Amino acid sequence: MTCREALRELLALDADQEPRQDLAAHLARCERCRQEEAKLRFALASLRVAERESTDEELTGRIMAATQAEPPRHEAAEAHEPMPLRNWLLAGVLIVGGILGLHYSKSFEWLRLAFGEAIDLAIGLILGVFLTTYLCLLVGSNLRRVQRLFRPH
Ligand SMILES: [Zn+2]
Repeated sequence: MTCREALRELLALDADQEPRQDLAAHLARCERCRQEEAKLRFALASLRVAERESTDEELTGRIMAATQAEPPRHEAAEAHEPMPLRNWLLAGVLIVGGILGLHYSKSFEWLRLAFGEAIDLAIGLILGVFLTTYLCLLVGSNLRRVQRLFRPH
């Protein structure tokens, strides 16, 4: 048996499985493979220690505790608006700020130098799509709020 074959067989062994006769014979006379075997057994032993330290049961317990701390999803969706208006405003401010910031930024000047006036059109289109998407999302997920706004009193 060659060292290569010996290693392959070593790796295929289960943790508590004894090596077959020809592998055992090879290990008995090959120092290098014995060292590999020792390393492998050490690695497997470390794995088992790590496994014992965080048992499945403990992990399950933690997950269960976390899920129970959270209210059931459908109740939460009904109790709260999908996203606070404050967050939407913040996102809007960020987008508009980004547009303004971009127009006065050095990198935009650089882009304009590199690509000419076409970059104005491209950026404008991209930002337009971005803003439209934002507004659609805003109105879409605040439909009830918007309806309340336009409902005759
Ligand atoms: Zn060997």
